[in-house]
Amino acid sequence: MTKIQALRGMNDLLPSESALWQYLEASVADVLGRYGYREIRFPIVESTDLFKRAIGEVTDVVEKEMYTFNDRNDESITLRPEGTAGCVRACEENGLLYNQTQRLWYQGPMFRYEKPQKGRLRQFHQIGIEAFGMAGPDIDAEILLLTARLWRDLGVLSNVRLEINNLGTPEARAQYREALVVYLSTVIDQLDADSQRRLTTNPLRILDSKHPGTRALLHGAPKLADYLPEQNRQHFAQLQAILVQAGLAFTVNPYLVRGLDYYSDTVFEWVTDDLGAQGTVCAGGRYDGLVAQLGGRMTPAVGCAMGVERLVLLLQTTGQIPAGINDDADAVFIVLGDYMPAALALAETLRDEMPLLRLTMLAGGGSLKNQLKRADKSLASIALILGEAEFNRQLLVVKHLREPLEQVEVAFSEVAALIDQWLIE
Ligand code: ATP
Ligand code: MG
Repeated sequence: MTKIQALRGMNDLLPSESALWQYLEASVADVLGRYGYREIRFPIVESTDLFKRAIGEVTDVVEKEMYTFNDRNDESITLRPEGTAGCVRACEENGLLYNQTQRLWYQGPMFRYEKPQKGRLRQFHQIGIEAFGMAGPDIDAEILLLTARLWRDLGVLSNVRLEINNLGTPEARAQYREALVVYLSTVIDQLDADSQRRLTTNPLRILDSKHPGTRALLHGAPKLADYLPEQNRQHFAQLQAILVQAGLAFTVNPYLVRGLDYYSDTVFEWVTDDLGAQGTVCAGGRYDGLVAQLGGRMTPAVGCAMGVERLVLLLQTTGQIPAGINDDADAVFIVLGDYMPAALALAETLRDEMPLLRLTMLAGGGSLKNQLKRADKSLASIALILGEAEFNRQLLVVKHLREPLEQVEVAFSEVAALIDQWLIE
């Protein structure tokens, strides 16, 4: 029989990598907590209309990338391709945006039907941050500063750079779009195929093209910055002033646009050169119009999402994995003969006395030699051995597995104190 395999682009997270994921997730939760952000959890599946309305009908995400199904009741539902839409929906539905500010974060799987490649999956994971009810550049800066702190904590600050831009208002963008289309239409033959298609659907996205020929043509194009309303210019200038004062380096990238329609005003990306083409590890911006667009009251908002797989890859390629990050056992328990019940009871006592001890019972039995071999493979630093001779004298043999030290015999009641000492050394 042929075996059933995972769907393309949907990875298993194996035990050998989960300690690194947990370390990354804990680091993010720690930094966010220090800035007053609280976790929110909302469903992975939502009504398809939510994403169409929030992200925009002619975006790549909605046009080509959504996992959309009809449920048994013939309602169209979609696996979330991003978190902001569901977060806004949940906040509105639960009255979290009424006359109050919110600093929130979430994490979990997102789904996009893309061509799987390095750094691009069909089920991937994001950690998202959203701040509601605050209109000023200070909150944009806060999110940039806290992400910078996170990169510093993770040891990758020097591997990422911050790019920022300002998209103005939807009205200003519409004017600019016209001017851009007029210009690009005069050189349409020289554009890459994707950009030719986007000229009619989503022309601003052409600014983001990676195609060298198209990029060269963009030098002669009208500049979005020349279309910015005064209010956005000021916001952008103030944001830059705050970042300068805080000592956070950035570059203004006038071609930076985002793939989701709800963004306006400030946008930004944290980019690395260490991961090849898929180098954006965190991206976001303001979306002041989205809450109203989804039926709520006008609510200023700013947020971002980081790609967890890309961050894990970045930690791995830069070697920024602290030595303590592993879930190997500290000790294994080798049991000979019929003494498993006694060993299990003793192990429970040790776990009571030493809550930080990682103690694994060596399953499967066998001779002492055979069990020691397996203990060695486990990467634990010590082995506890209980057989008939030891049981009769109510003691254990404690053996170092990694250092050439004499094994010792220890009374049951003394074991905790001894391994405590050995593991600290
Ligand atoms: P890209 O330009 O890389 O396609 P995007 O604009 O589609 O990104 P966002 O929707 O802003 O991405 O998502 C934020 C972050 O989530 C990205 O910067 C990236 O780190 C991660 N991400 C997005 N799509 C994927 C994917 N298919 N697989 C893995 N990570 C992804
Ligand atoms: Mg994309």
